[in-house]
Order: sequence, then C-alpha cells, then structure tokens
Amino acid sequence: MVDCCSAPGLLPFEQALNNMLNVIEPITDIEQISLESALGRILAQDVRSPVNVPPNDNSAMDGYAFSYQSLALNKEMTLVGRSMAGAPFQGKCKLGECVRIMTGAKIPDDCDTVEMQENCQATGEKITFLSTRSLADNVRSKGEDIAVEQTVFFSGRELTTVDIGVLASLGIQKVCVYRKLKVALISTGDELKKPGQLLNVGDIYESNSYFLTAILSKLGAEIIDFGIIEDIEKSIFKAFKKADEIADVVISSGGVSVGDADYTKTVLEELGEIEFWKIAMKPGKPFAFGTLPNSYFFGLPGNPVSALVTAHQLALPALLKMQNSHFIKPLLIPAKTKTSLRKSPGRMDFQRGIIENTESGELVVTTTGSQGSGILTSMAAANCYIVLAAEQGRVEAGEWVKVQMFDKYLQ
Ligand code: AMP
Ligand code: MG
Repeated sequence: MVDCCSAPGLLPFEQALNNMLNVIEPITDIEQISLESALGRILAQDVRSPVNVPPNDNSAMDGYAFSYQSLALNKEMTLVGRSMAGAPFQGKCKLGECVRIMTGAKIPDDCDTVEMQENCQATGEKITFLSTRSLADNVRSKGEDIAVEQTVFFSGRELTTVDIGVLASLGIQKVCVYRKLKVALISTGDELKKPGQLLNVGDIYESNSYFLTAILSKLGAEIIDFGIIEDIEKSIFKAFKKADEIADVVISSGGVSVGDADYTKTVLEELGEIEFWKIAMKPGKPFAFGTLPNSYFFGLPGNPVSALVTAHQLALPALLKMQNSHFIKPLLIPAKTKTSLRKSPGRMDFQRGIIENTESGELVVTTTGSQGSGILTSMAAANCYIVLAAEQGRVEAGEWVKVQMFDKYLQ
C-alpha cells in the first residue's frame, strides 16, 4: 500500500520553517517599563552598566588592610582604624599601619592588600602578620565583575529571573523592551464545546485554544480569544477580518484540511495571501501560513496533538522572530531507544518519548505509546520529542535516535 503521506509534493519541515522565517518582519514598537514587570520581556536596546561592580576595591576577607610595602618593612603594624561594609575608613593609613577590615568593606585609599584575620595576632593595637602575602591579595578590584559602560545584555535578550537581579545590582530601574505581541486565537468547528458546556452527540471539548493560550502566555503575548466560531462562511469571515484588524498575529486551529464544512480556506484566500501547505511532518501535515492586510496568519490543524506540535515547532520560532527574541535551534541529543518505533519513510516524525538516564549513565528514551494525532495524553506523558528524519523507516529497540527535550513552552 502506498502511504498517502509519503507522496511527493509534501513540503519538507525545514523548508516550511525557513519560508516563514524569511517572510516574518519583527515588530519595532518599543516601550519603557519598570524592572519589576520586565521578566520575560525582550530587550530593545543593549544595556550598558552605569556603574562599576563592585563600585570600589573591597576586601574579600575579614582581616587587616595595609600597604604591601609595609609588610616588607616589618611584620608588625599599628592598628589605626576600621573599615566596615557601609562605613569606610576615612583617615590616613601610613607605612607601618593597618586598618581592621570586614568582607565587602572599601579598601582604604592608602592600602592595597588584605591579610585574613586567621593569619594575624592582635595584641592591643599591635597586629603581627604571620604569613607572607603578594600585592593585592584578598582584594576584589573595582569593576572586576562589570566595568562602567560595559555592555551587560544585548538587545533581543529575553530577560530571565537572574537578569532582573543583575539589572537591579546595577541600579537600573527601567528597561527598554519591545511591546508585547497581540495574538488573536480562533477555534473553528461546530462540534466544539467549551469545558463547562453540555456535550451533544458528536460534540467534543475544545482544547486547542487552552494550550495555545498557555504557550502564548509563556511567550509574553497579549491574547485576544475569539472563542469558537461556527462553521458558517459569514461568521468565519467576520471573525478573521476583526482579528486581523486588532492583532499582529492571527492563529486558528481546525479547518485547514479539506473537509466539507471548512470555510477557512475560502475566507482566508479572500482576505489575504495565504499558502496552504502539506508539510512532510507527523503529526501536523496540513498547515497554513501567510499574510493578512495587517497581520500574519498561522492556520494550525485541528487535531490537538497536530495543533500543539505545529504551534511549538513552526509557529513559535516565527513568533519569537516577530518579537525580536533570539531563536536558538533546539538541541538534538543522541539517545538509545528502549523500544522499537513505528515509522514509514516520507515525513519527519515528532514522536513523543520519555528520556532518562540508566544507572550506568547512558541516555535512553522510551516511546509514550500510541502516537495518534488526537491522543493529547501522549504529549502529557512525554518529556521529549523523538525526532526521526523524513527518510527514516522503522527503528528497532537499541538503535540510536535523536531526542529534543521539551522546553518551557510545553511545561
Ligand atoms: P478539522 O481540521 O477542522 O477537520 O479538525 C480535525 C479534528 O480536530 C477534528 O476531529 C476536530 O474535531 C478536532 N478539532 C478541531 N479543532 C479542535 C479544538 N479546538 N480542540 C479540540 N479538537 C479540535
Ligand atoms: Mg473542523
């Protein structure tokens, strides 16, 4: 039997992704926001440090600060004051003198070296130094972490929890970021009901908009949910037209295959320049992409696993580019499959698996079982994709495969 899906005319996955990335123009609108609300936002400017970190030469130890020259002259010095964190020593520290100093405290102007207290003997104001030292020992230099004017983060960086802390440590209160993407979500299909509604015979619960909302929230997008649009040409037209007017991106699910009641194709062709692809990937063959008058359009397949995998593998990189984030190609990790994997040549497979370490430290992966495109639990049970190249056939247990870990968007 000829596999329908290995038929020629399918668009290779990489080509579909590149086609989209070549068309997408990133947004340019920027805004200034407070550091407190900057988590996950995309920097629109390089950030240069307004200060040195640390701002002064300071002590790495609790001990005594002195001029290195003094130690060569005499192992005994006179204590003339204290330098504490937040209360630096203000006086003069001449040759033969030393200053009690605490970790993080400023090194007095006349000093350049610190000895830790464990290597000193204090008798009243007389401090005896028991070890030899090199110049600048136990001194953390001004600007050794970050020098003033140094670029700390580059434009396009998605600010992480740690980054927020770094920016605060530089005394930065506001950052310049790209505005949030506005994404309109449309679900199509008369059989769809929202959780909480009663199911009639033939109905199913709508799930795509829920995980799409979750992915988009992690992306930091503003979501405009159009809900479920009935399979009536006029209604679909109205929804897409409105969505295009108010959003940067319109994402629909369902209705991109050629079913009788699927009007999305007719409507979209009327509204914009949309290509309906058959992508050589599994799950997720039917996929549409193009431009509407004011927005980009992504048409995901209706089957939940297909919708989720195409959203994650194809729409997400395009959205990242659109919001100016750096898209990093996912790592492919080699692992041995514990089970055989059904596969026929023709389409690139994103099977779902569980990757783990054996006791001997080897990476092994196990399939989550049935890989049907409606079985969303196969994604829920997984922690990775088993990525099988288009030309690959069946894989036997013990063979090496490539694995792509699930990232934050799926967790
Ligand atoms: P379609 O591409 O519209 O023919 O949909 C393919 C399959 O996916 C059908 O079984 C639909 O019921 C199902 N489907 C479509 N949209 C959704 C959705 N938002 N949530 C869950 N299942 C859906
Ligand atoms: Mg449908």
